[in-house]
Amino acid sequence: MPQSADTNSTAGVLYIVSTPIGNLEDITLRALRTLKEVNLIAAEDTRHTCRLLAHYEIGTPTTSYFEGNQVQKGEKLVARLKAGESIALVSDAGTPTISDPGYRLIVQCIEADILIIPIPGPSACIAAASVAGLPLHNFVFEGFLSPKSGRRKRQLRDLRAEKRTLIFYESPYRVISFLRDVLEVFGDRRISVARELTKKFEEVFRGGVTEAIDKLQGTPPRGEFTIVIAGSPSDKE
Ligand code: SAM
Repeated sequence: MPQSADTNSTAGVLYIVSTPIGNLEDITLRALRTLKEVNLIAAEDTRHTCRLLAHYEIGTPTTSYFEGNQVQKGEKLVARLKAGESIALVSDAGTPTISDPGYRLIVQCIEADILIIPIPGPSACIAAASVAGLPLHNFVFEGFLSPKSGRRKRQLRDLRAEKRTLIFYESPYRVISFLRDVLEVFGDRRISVARELTKKFEEVFRGGVTEAIDKLQGTPPRGEFTIVIAGSPSDKE
C-alpha cells in the first residue's frame, strides 16, 4: 500500500525535519509549525536543538536519538508513533539522515507501516554545491571518507575516473590531509572549499587543489567544511 501525505493529520506521523546549518533564519515556516505541533522531537543532541527551539519559543518535549542509542530508541519511538503520537526527527544541522542518524528509524517506520513525511530545508552539501561553480546536472555525494589516509586514498582511487562533480564532508582537523590526498590521487583539479556556510565567517574558496592547500596552511583551519571537486576531465583516468 503506497504511503500518502495527509497534511491535515499529525497523528502517528514521523516528520523528517531539516534545520539550519548555521544561520537560525534558515528554517521553513512549515518546519517551525511541525516542530510546534508534534508530540515529541527526537534530536541528535537535545541541548543543541533546545537552542533552536528556545529561539523560536517552541516548548515541545525532546528526546535524544543518536548513533549510539538508535536501535533501542527507535523501537520506543515506533511504539509511540503506533500509539498515535507524532514525532519530528532533527539532527544538529541540516537534513537528518544525510551523514547523520535517521536511516534505521526510517526503516523501522516503513516496516511498521508508519507514514513518514519530509519537511525539506537546508543541507550543507546542497548549499556548498550551489555556489561551487562546478557542473551540477548530476553529482556524487560521498559524505565523509575514512579519517585514515591509506584507506582514504583507496577510496579516492575508486572515484578517480568519476566524471560527475564530487561532494565531500570533512572535519577541520583533517581538511588539509584530505586535500593532500586529493592532490596525489586526482591531480590539481578545480575545487571549491566552502567553510562555515550561512555563519559569520562564511568563506568559499574556488581554484586548484594546490592553491586551496596553500591557503589553508596559512592559518589552522577552523569551522565546518564542505569540499566540492570537479569530476574527471578525461576517459583515461
Ligand atoms: N545532515 C547535515 C546536512 O544535511 O548538512 C550534515 C551532517 S554532517 C555530520 C556535518 C558535516 O556537514 C560537517 O562536518 C561539514 O563537513 C558539513 N557542514 C555542516 N555545516 C556546514 C556549514 N555551515 N558549512 C560548511 N559545511 C558544513
